[in-house]
Amino acid sequence: MKKLDLLYEGKAKKVYKTDEEGILIVDYKDDATAFNGQKKGTIVGKGAINNRMTNHVLRLLEKEGVPTHLVEELSDRETAVKAVKIVPLEVIIRNVAAGSFSKKLGIEEGRKLLCPTLEFSYKDDDLGDPFINRYYALALGLATEEEIDTITRYAFKVNEVMIRYFDSIGIELIDFKIEFGRLEDGTIILADEISPDTCRLWDKETREKLDKDRFRRDLGNVEDAYAEVFKRLGIE
Ligand code: UDP
Repeated sequence: MKKLDLLYEGKAKKVYKTDEEGILIVDYKDDATAFNGQKKGTIVGKGAINNRMTNHVLRLLEKEGVPTHLVEELSDRETAVKAVKIVPLEVIIRNVAAGSFSKKLGIEEGRKLLCPTLEFSYKDDDLGDPFINRYYALALGLATEEEIDTITRYAFKVNEVMIRYFDSIGIELIDFKIEFGRLEDGTIILADEISPDTCRLWDKETREKLDKDRFRRDLGNVEDAYAEVFKRLGIE
């Protein structure tokens, strides 16, 4: 497969066209941003860790019946994926209160929720990805009712599989964000990354943060935290 022109450059990834119909190449960068791009930095080694971790988790999810965009890992930082039209919704699942949830509702970080929650944000950087519900998504034509049902079902399934998996490597899955895309024929599949950039991952015993909050909140040892998660995946 040949890597052709750059199609799009985002905050953490570049996406290239290829000579194969319906296949793109994602190239993960070490660049880190937070607070809607206001805070910028570099997390050395992040690109490779996020690429390889995403693929590892997506393979696991495929085995459990969640269709994903993964085609083939090409190198440390590059992966061939199925081209999709991204559904402009960030889907956030929470098991434990943290981040914006804690702030908005005045609930201390770390409190276990009685059941997992699901929320949507409208993917729009200029608006700062505002919180919306399924009625907004329907009214704005962001997705159909059937698509929202499928996305919801997959998102909770992803949560179940990931809670179990991370627990087995000593990590508590606090919350995460995923995105979905549509293939040409309209099939909904899981797209984008699953990494310490997009999940809150705490050590199960110490509850030490092993994710991007170390960068967002200047907690130090950012690279070490990413490396620790990667080590526990046992894929080297
Ligand atoms: N998240 C993400 N991208 C975003 C916003 C959130 O990957 O643009 C992830 C974040 O890493 C966390 C979860 O979604 O795992 C919930 O984030 P939250 O709403 O608490 O927002 P934050 O406190 O990070 O602003």
